[in-house]
Amino acid sequence: MQLKSVISAGLISLAGIATVAHAADAAYPTRAVNMVVPFAAGGPTDSVARALAEAMRTELGQTVVVENKGGAGGTIGVSQVGRAAPDGYTMLLMHIGFSTAPSLYKNPGYQVDNFAPVGLVVDVPMTIIARSDFPPNNIAEYVDYLKKNADKVSLANAGVGAASHLCGTMLMDALGVQLLTVPYGGTAPAIKDLVGKQVDTLCDQTTNTTAQITSGTVKAYAVTSLERVPTLPNLPTMDESGFKGFQVGIWHGLWLPKDTPQPIVDKVNKALQTALASERFQSRMKDLGARVMTESANPQALKQLVDQQVPQWAELFKKAGVEAQ
Ligand code: ASP
Repeated sequence: MQLKSVISAGLISLAGIATVAHAADAAYPTRAVNMVVPFAAGGPTDSVARALAEAMRTELGQTVVVENKGGAGGTIGVSQVGRAAPDGYTMLLMHIGFSTAPSLYKNPGYQVDNFAPVGLVVDVPMTIIARSDFPPNNIAEYVDYLKKNADKVSLANAGVGAASHLCGTMLMDALGVQLLTVPYGGTAPAIKDLVGKQVDTLCDQTTNTTAQITSGTVKAYAVTSLERVPTLPNLPTMDESGFKGFQVGIWHGLWLPKDTPQPIVDKVNKALQTALASERFQSRMKDLGARVMTESANPQALKQLVDQQVPQWAELFKKAGVEAQ
């Protein structure tokens, strides 16, 4: 065969490959899609993920399967998605820890640019809670008790980089105390131990604590949003309890591995937007105290937030003397 024919044959087959790839992108998804939750099942991220997975199914026309990959404050599951094939069949639901972990770990196992942002999902306030027989009965007594008994109080969290770790660190910093921290693979097992009275206190998201607080299986002291949470109206904010400006809001974002073809990112984003607009998703999130971030459910908003937050957290942790491990 002449060189010219070899080249043109090659070009034709390359064009063939591109056509096949485009056809695959257009057909996506043709099978179930995995949504990785980098924390234990039954916890706050898992609750959001399961509601979202169900709501995204309508637009995607395929089941979205939630896969729990807990450990190391979420970094294990996040890293796994960072290494997954960029074919749209593995997505990640992760919260603010995505921005904090790069300064809390020397090697978090991932880089922010290993991911393609899809959009923001929900923003969740946190609650400061304790085992039901913990002596203090209100936030003032809680603060006083912790200051006097710091060496005896255990504080659960879901590992360095988790929201509970962030809130716990801020709480200890605000009170000037160092408690004994107990890490779990998520706050589902942490709250189980709190209910079982094996650990004393925890700062956890309303998506995990609302039912426990309402039923009285745990004691609750305050919320970390600047406004009171409508579903927990009797709980004061930290801000109104003498900790001016104390605020922790846990945003959640949806991600795909980087290099996911744009038509797939667009399709997943459309499914996200449809899910957030659904009444069922909205009412479930409302019941759990979460705010649906419809206005920011796009790649630009999520990317902008993370680009802004990563250096901000690095600076804040440096100032607070929190070292990367
Ligand atoms: N979001 C974690 C979980 O689902 C808990 C945390 O970040 O504190 O267990």
